[in-house]
Order: sequence, then C-alpha cells, then structure tokens
Amino acid sequence: MPIDLRHDPEVVELVEKTERFIRDYVLPIEEAHNGDITAAGGDDLRREMNAKAKAEGIFAPHAPVEFGGLGLNMTDRAAVFEAAGYSTFGPVALHIGAPDEGNVHMLDHIASEEQRQKFLAPLASGEVRSAFAMTEPAPGAGADPDALNTQAVRVDGGWKINGTKHFITGAEGAAFFIIMARTAGSPGDRGGATMFLANADTPGITVGRHINTIDKAMIGGHCEVTFEDVFVPDEDILGEVDQGYRYAQVRLGPARMTHVMRWLGAAKRCHDVALDYVSRREGFGGKLGDLGMIQQMVADNEIDLAASRQLLLKACHELDLGNHASNETSIAKTFAAEAYSRIADRSMQMCGGLGVSADLPIARLAQELRPFRIYDGPSEVHRWAIARRAIGRAKKAQAAAEAK
Ligand SMILES: Cc1cc2nc3c(=O)[nH]c(=O)nc-3n(C[C@H](O)[C@H](O)[C@H](O)COP(=O)(O)OP(=O)(O)OC[C@H]3O[C@@H](n4cnc5c(N)ncnc54)[C@H](O)[C@@H]3O)c2cc1C
Repeated sequence: MPIDLRHDPEVVELVEKTERFIRDYVLPIEEAHNGDITAAGGDDLRREMNAKAKAEGIFAPHAPVEFGGLGLNMTDRAAVFEAAGYSTFGPVALHIGAPDEGNVHMLDHIASEEQRQKFLAPLASGEVRSAFAMTEPAPGAGADPDALNTQAVRVDGGWKINGTKHFITGAEGAAFFIIMARTAGSPGDRGGATMFLANADTPGITVGRHINTIDKAMIGGHCEVTFEDVFVPDEDILGEVDQGYRYAQVRLGPARMTHVMRWLGAAKRCHDVALDYVSRREGFGGKLGDLGMIQQMVADNEIDLAASRQLLLKACHELDLGNHASNETSIAKTFAAEAYSRIADRSMQMCGGLGVSADLPIARLAQELRPFRIYDGPSEVHRWAIARRAIGRAKKAQAAAEAK
C-alpha cells in the first residue's frame, strides 16, 4: 500500500488561501519596512494583520478549536506554516510565530482548566502575547539546560522566584511569562526544574535591554528579564513541581518543527528570487540560468528544500502518532537549519551585487535564518544526541548478540 502524502482538500484550500493572503497583503507591508516588524508598527500592526487573517478564516490554524483556532495536526500545519513563512511577517499575521505558537501548544497539553481559561484563552485568540523564559547568562542555562540557575523557593501559598534570563523573545509587551526555575538540586544537576506562569505585571518582573541580534522579524525583541522575589501562587504552576524538563520536551519537539516549517517558506522565497533573477539576466550569450555552475546551485537548492520538507514530514508524522520523535525532530531541525543557510547563501551568490543589497530580500532573509542554527538546540548539541542514540543502539545490539 503506498503511503498517501496528500493533504485533505480543506487543508489544500487553506494553504492556497494563506498563499494569497501572504502575497497580496502581508508581503507588501514587509517589503515596505525592509522586514523590520518594530519599525512597521509592532503590536499595532500585529492586531491589524490578525483581524484580517481572522476575516479570511486562516487565523491560528494550530490553536484549539474551542478557542477559535483550526486545530490542525502537525502534518497539516507543515504546509500552512510554510505558506505563511514565505513572508517574515506571515507568522505574526496568522499568530503562529515564536514563542506564542509553541506556548499555545504546550498550554493546550499541560495547563489545568483554570489556567486554560486564564492564560490559554486570551493567548490563542491573539488578545495577548506571551514569552518563554528559559535561557540565562553564563553560568546559567543555555545549550545545557541542567545549568539552570534561576531559583524558586517554597513560601506560604506558592513560590518566590529569583534569577536573570536573556534572549527572551517577545518579552517586551508580553502579557505573561512561562518561567523555568529550579525547585530542586543545584545548577548542573539533572532535573529539578518547574514551569511557572506569571503575569508580566507581577511585582519583581523587569524587562530590560533588548539584545541587538541580526534578525528583525520577531515581535517584542529578544530581551534580558530579571525576576526578583516574584511570587507565583501554587495554582499557577504549569504541570507538576520538578517536572519542568519533561514538559519542556512537550513544547520543544513540536516548536522545533514549526520553526522548520516557517523558515522553509523563507528559504523557498530566497530560491524563488534567485530563480527569477537567473532566468532573466543575460550573460555570456544566453541567460545565467543556462550556465552549468548556476544550474548546480539551483539544483542544490531544490535538493535542500525537498530534503528538508521530507524530513519535516517524517518528524510531524511521528509527533502526530503521539511519539516523542526526539531523533526525528533533531535530524530534521539540524538538517533544515543548515540547509536554509546554504540556500540563502547560494541564492545571494546567484543574484550578484543585488543579492547582498536591500533591493532584494535575500540578504535580510539570510540574517533571519542564521540564528536558527543556535536556538531550539544548537546543531552541535543535536548531532551529539543523534550520535549518542545511534552508538547506544549499536552497543545494545552487540551486547544482545554476545549474550546469545
Ligand atoms: C534569536 C534568538 C531567540 C531566542 N529566544 C529565546 C526565548 O524566547 N527563550 C529562551 O529561553 N531562549 C531563547 N534563546 C536562547 C537560545 O535558546 C540559546 O541561545 C541556545 O540554547 C544556546 O544557548 P547559549 O546562547 O547560552 O549558548 P552556549 O550554551 O554558551 O553554547 C555556545 C555554543 O557552544 C556549542 N556547544 C554547546 N553545547 C555543545 C555540545 N554539547 N557539544 C558541542 N558544542 C556545543 C554550540 O555551538 C553553541 O552554539 C534565543 C536565542 C536567539 C539567538
């Protein structure tokens, strides 16, 4: 029996609608502001674009149906998110950008009924934004989550949190934070983390400096945030105490894949721009696209796009089956993050001087794509995990063979 890789007709229609919405409405806004979402209006623009997306019936395709979303599974999200990602403003317009999309996913899986009403309902509807606060300045949590330094100590009726985070996307203007803090053990110990939900106006929460990174399309900056004696009542613990790392996996696997989906759209756009250029540009008695070395770059882009899409679909299929898919998501994330940078770089090269100018979008898309090799787990950490699993399987097989 062949595996049916086609989407249902309703999903195909949703993809087509999203493509039209992005092409006709979102792309012109992005281009007019050179891809800088803050300069384009930040939250005011977000609300305006969200209203349009709602009117088109394409808003929050991942969110639970009970909160106005379309409830798509991961496999169906892939095609829609890719279409939205063709513009760097597309994910904000559809309310499927980081970190809100991942936070909706996680709250939907873990939040209590009260937390669903208090935090998930306004987030899913786009009424508010949120932030996910995990990473800390050295020596705290970064690629190694066990280095978690932010402390939560038990007090009457809840917990008091102290610590400093940085690179917290969307912190400026977020209505609430999901804070990862240590409730057991010491920095360096495995486990012992808990997730807390806290409104941004809780006393002791301060959003500080916006770290000036090379990307400009995520709303609310990548900020330093301090937590000073922040009180969180017991009812705002997300899930169970000391189980934060387990819950983080609920968020991180799918959130890695939705980044792969969105950035696939941006990589495809780089390639489309280059294709348009090399099939028009005259040189050496023909078009640039007739030259073998240009064709090699075109073919390599096509291969990287197709391979990224297939690895993504395999990982989504596993996630939709309810599996953790740790290996599949690591492989898809690592390959795609690096493939997208290669695609952007080749596309820039094919477009000559214009490729590195602001007259075409490729140079700034390359800047949006580059950090993806660092966040959601740096490539080296994923490779390490993939290799350890493979070597572990080999050792187990050897031990089993020797025991016979
Ligand atoms: C644009 C952007 C947005 C972000 N948004 C958020 C957010 O919203 N919330 C949040 O909590 N965090 C966020 N982050 C932080 C991100 O998750 C971290 O940057 C990432 O986990 C790496 O941690 P680090 O920066 O401390 O790097 P470090 O841990 O210092 O690692 C530095 C480098 O060392 C190498 N390395 C690390 N470990 C290994 C290993 N085991 N083997 C081999 N090499 C290794 C890698 O090359 C890595 O890039 C964001 C980061 C960026 C750039």
